[in-house]
Amino acid sequence: MSLSIPADKSGRASKLCADAPSDLRQAVHFFSDPEFCHQLLVAMRWPGGVPLCTRCGFDRSNYCSTRRVWTCKGCGKQFTVKLGTIFEGSRVGLEKWFPVVWLKAQPVRTVSFREIADLLGTTHATVWFMFHRIERAMRTGTFLSRSAAA
Ligand SMILES: [Zn+2]
Repeated sequence: MSLSIPADKSGRASKLCADAPSDLRQAVHFFSDPEFCHQLLVAMRWPGGVPLCTRCGFDRSNYCSTRRVWTCKGCGKQFTVKLGTIFEGSRVGLEKWFPVVWLKAQPVRTVSFREIADLLGTTHATVWFMFHRIERAMRTGTFLSRSAAA
């Protein structure tokens, strides 16, 4: 699936390979910085390093770092890195999504939903929701949702 991590110029994304977590607790710690997770998804989504408008595809935009929102210079619409992905439309932060993505990529899962929820500080229902979304991404081979891929 295309949730693999390309190396980026800053080398932050390649940190994932060097310090790869070996259990969920380590993964939760590894992904605990929301800005790191944001940068990681930016590098995964736009490997060329230039954010493209999710509406019109234009390659020039203004970025607001405090809100992590781009404003397209073409169509004027705002977009985020989560827009049009499986991570869109939930209040769950990427720092909670990524440990679960990591977990789903493991060949064997040895922790229960309750343990995952406790480690992430979230609910059983939220973990179930994330599993469902991530499984869809694994089936389709992309973390982009249908609407964005079309
Ligand atoms: Zn645009």
